Amino acid sequence: MTGTEEPAETVEAEIVTPTPTPEGNGRKIAIDAGHQAHGNSEQEPIGPGASQTKAKVASGTTGRTTGVTEYQLNLDVALKLRDELEARGYEVYMIRETNDVDISNAERAQLAAESGSDILIRIHANGSDNTSVAGALTMAPSTANPYLSQEMIAECQKLSQCIITAFCASTGANNQGVYQTDEMSGLNWCSIPATIVEMGYMTNQEEDTRMQTADYQQQMVTGIADGIDQYFAS
Ligand SMILES: [Zn+2]
Repeated sequence: MTGTEEPAETVEAEIVTPTPTPEGNGRKIAIDAGHQAHGNSEQEPIGPGASQTKAKVASGTTGRTTGVTEYQLNLDVALKLRDELEARGYEVYMIRETNDVDISNAERAQLAAESGSDILIRIHANGSDNTSVAGALTMAPSTANPYLSQEMIAECQKLSQCIITAFCASTGANNQGVYQTDEMSGLNWCSIPATIVEMGYMTNQEEDTRMQTADYQQQMVTGIADGIDQYFAS
């Protein structure tokens, strides 16, 4: 076909691809990656008006096999959870994005509420003297909690239940349920619904190793985000 002077068909250079900007869903989530590089053993009351005190920030546990610190694992998962929630249209407030902070548990609870967030998700990993123990749990205040209203306690319990159910569905982790406690400063000082997610046991060789893989971290993040979706849907 030589000699033809037909110009090659020009392809429209500008290909318009819609950028994935999810509609905001009007919900704001505070995420607290538990602990920090250095604990703070100064004492603070475990709740408003409490005479009982606890360390401002405990040092957390360490991976028995991996040697990874809990504060690092918590931060790694918290940052991935932030990305997942933003992709689902949530606004996110991070209590910390580095390990080099000094923020007490009571302050974290208060910062979360002051940020205008609807709920607070506290990310932790567990430890046990019994290295065969594995599984996940969430923590919520009991109905006997002296620092929180019954309405707030019920919301914390509902949030905790939604998250542990979805977390274990996504990860296949052993479901240790919702652990009720009135000793957690970061729950007792919180004026918005809050839960503590204990993702797994760093003292268990298998779970410690699994929690360091990108695949399992994504399963954990998906589970927590699914639980948050279900909390607001119910
Ligand atoms: Zn912890």
